[in-house]
Amino acid sequence: MGSRGSESGAAIALRGVHKRYSAPDGVIEALAPIDLEIAEGSFVALVGPSGCGKSTLLRIVAGLEPPSGGEVVVRDRARMAYVFQDAHLLPWRTLAGNVALPLELRGEPRSRIDAQVAEALAAVELSGFADSYPAALSGGMRMRASIARALVTKPRLLLMDEPFGALDEITRNRLDERLLALFGAQRFTVLFVTHGIFEATFLAERAIVMSRRPGRVVHDAPSALVGERTAELRGEAAFAREAHELARALERGSR
Ligand code: ADP
Ligand code: MG
Repeated sequence: MGSRGSESGAAIALRGVHKRYSAPDGVIEALAPIDLEIAEGSFVALVGPSGCGKSTLLRIVAGLEPPSGGEVVVRDRARMAYVFQDAHLLPWRTLAGNVALPLELRGEPRSRIDAQVAEALAAVELSGFADSYPAALSGGMRMRASIARALVTKPRLLLMDEPFGALDEITRNRLDERLLALFGAQRFTVLFVTHGIFEATFLAERAIVMSRRPGRVVHDAPSALVGERTAELRGEAAFAREAHELARALERGSR
């Protein structure tokens, strides 16, 4: 296990990775052995029923907890950012202050921080709110600030755990579109956990569906959707077909 470079050239390579937790009333098998490779610069969605081990898998990839067995190779763990469902902003800091935090923590000089923070806030269209406090903003804006805080370090790997799950659908759709624009411009690797079928269909070049606990991969396929992923795509027949495929895989895995 480690964060050394993968021989295969993959951004993430998991071999036989499994996880069990010991609970008061016995052992919980969270993840069945999983083999998975994720190519650098790809956008992969991880879909599965609640409690199937998606967050566990993401934490293992991030190195936040060890697997019970198997090998984890993550090429750019040193240049990784993690986005959670909750924005986790510090309420006593302005947006700019929150976005600056990762740079401060790694000891960047103040003279370099301000320009990078401004750039990250602009990327999520929050330039006008640099001096606002989180409490004064909508949930969608707070989430955008959280993404700015992730992007300010120029990550090569972005791990997102149901980042827009708490937002209303219109806001979520807009953020999905914004995220794709940022992905198109910067081409980091994204592993995006969601239980939203339509969200996964819209975002991902490849969708991986997990079964219920202990989580294993029951479906893993590249998206059949071609062309630009604009908002109009959601109304097309090919989009509905693709979403239907995913929904069926999820149903199979949930039995
Ligand atoms: P998901 O993100 O897919 O909803 P999780 O990865 O959070 O699922 O959890 C998978 C399973 O592992 C769940 O049954 C959960 O209760 C259990 N689990 C997760 N973390 C722990 C822990 N630290 N200790 C014990 N059980 C845990
Ligand atoms: Mg989870």
